[in-house]
Amino acid sequence: MKIPSYVCGEWREGTGQGEAILDPVTGEELARVTSQGVDAAAALQYAREKGGEALRRMSYQDRAELLGKMGEVLNANRAEYFRISLLNLGAGESDASFDVDGAIYTVKYFAKLGKALGGAKMLREGAQIPLSKTGVFSGQHFLVPLRGVAVLINAFNFPAWGFCEKAAPALLSGVPVLVKPASPTAWLTQKMVEDILKAGILPDGALSLICGSARDLLDTVREEDMVSFTGSAETAARIRTHAAVLQHSVRTNIEADSINSAVLGPDVLPGSELAELFVKEVVREMTLKAGQKCTAIRRLFVPRAAGKSIGEALVKRLSAIKVGNPRNPEVKMGPVVNKAQQASCLQGIEQLKKECSVLFGSGSFQPVDANAADSAFVPLTLLACEDGKKAVRVHDTEVFGPVATMIAYDSPQELIAMIRRGSGSLVASVFSSDAAFLESFIMGVGDLHGRILAVDSAVGAQHTGHGNVVPSCMHGGPGRAGGGEELGGLRGLLLYHRRFVVQGPTTTLGNLTGAGGDGNWLTA
Ligand code: NAP
Repeated sequence: MKIPSYVCGEWREGTGQGEAILDPVTGEELARVTSQGVDAAAALQYAREKGGEALRRMSYQDRAELLGKMGEVLNANRAEYFRISLLNLGAGESDASFDVDGAIYTVKYFAKLGKALGGAKMLREGAQIPLSKTGVFSGQHFLVPLRGVAVLINAFNFPAWGFCEKAAPALLSGVPVLVKPASPTAWLTQKMVEDILKAGILPDGALSLICGSARDLLDTVREEDMVSFTGSAETAARIRTHAAVLQHSVRTNIEADSINSAVLGPDVLPGSELAELFVKEVVREMTLKAGQKCTAIRRLFVPRAAGKSIGEALVKRLSAIKVGNPRNPEVKMGPVVNKAQQASCLQGIEQLKKECSVLFGSGSFQPVDANAADSAFVPLTLLACEDGKKAVRVHDTEVFGPVATMIAYDSPQELIAMIRRGSGSLVASVFSSDAAFLESFIMGVGDLHGRILAVDSAVGAQHTGHGNVVPSCMHGGPGRAGGGEELGGLRGLLLYHRRFVVQGPTTTLGNLTGAGGDGNWLTA
């Protein structure tokens, strides 16, 4: 089976051998993927002309209805997405749910949110700004949907959520999308796109798909398009510096890799409820999707005096986790996506070992119900770093698998300095009931993070999770994390709109039909 692309209103199969899509548990080939022969320039043009025109004729409310229907279709086909997730990602029920149900929830969330924007076709931003003595001449800022295409390039680890968290706000904004999933896991995205198209919900040209290598996809992007990318920092650099992107100042949103942190506050005693919550969260982050989450905890900072007990508590929980074939009901953690990712993880662990000791994961490793030679498992590995000030690799090596490093700290100042050496991250979580410490922590690292999760004893287990991206809150992070800002409720629509100001007759500005809201669109 070859995974097809959908461009110019029809399905097209790429030519040539393409790349194999594998079962990471058995190593068996499931399908092949190639974009060779698929005309990306024509696809972009078709989307701009057909999809863009049709979507712009609708209001936010109309498009919110489309999203609602998309959510229903995806929900109806959920079982098939779980089947593909198991085959292609080695994802058990909870790993598949994190991706697939997260995707459906996000689509439904934007469907609900969009209704509040009503019949408008662009958004008023802020109040009118008087610019004349008599008040006849004013300024008014507006947000208007881009007239181009949203080119959505995704990473392999979230074929469902990655597609939907970008496509939902783009389509609600009135911008057609062209999705390019990562080749190793393109199958699931392709199936979701197929189901949406089959249901005939979207206008022609609103949703296109290119499976296989990006090849010349970005060569014909222009000023009215945007490129939203999720993936490695290396590819991100190539996208940012692509000639067409530079020449036409094409808007890019980059979500790249990140050395996220979790902190146990100096006030928290080992064995306390907060310490237990911290331990549980670290283990969850290491094991969910076998650590293949951009938001996963890579560094955990623990007061030096608490290191031994926390290390023991972590090792106890990690020892109870069965790693292997997710078809076995006793298994709690599956493989990484393929042999290349496995090799990259194992190499990363060796790098980290040069400055860390191994607390868990040093023994021989045999996955349950799987052949180690054919499969792509990575042993759960917890490392410890006693001198995080001197260490280099723990702050800059992203091992994209079930691996984390515990780092001792002696003072809040030292803690903040070490966290900042991650050079910009998606998320840091902090477990503490000391309000003064929490405030200094948030002030000390906030500028280098997209999100901070603070858990005190009043919040307890009611927090949403370190690695869990909720569509109502912003996702992204500065510096190394790529500098992107996605989601965040209606803020998520900003990426797909342009801001401009009209200076003109006050009455005309006030009466502009199609411009919705009273100026404060964020509260819609
Ligand atoms: P990747 O190798 O950088 O690939 C990401 C995407 O870019 C794929 O669709 C890939 O296509 C495409 N691509 C590769 N070269 C390209 C080029 N020259 N022009 C345009 N597109 C190109 O990343 P990955 O291995 O799939 O994903 C793992 C990384 O993603 C990790 O570092 C992780 O931290 C990061 N990530 C970040 C977030 C976030 O929200 N910040 C979320 C998830 C993952 P092919 O697959 O066809 O090569």
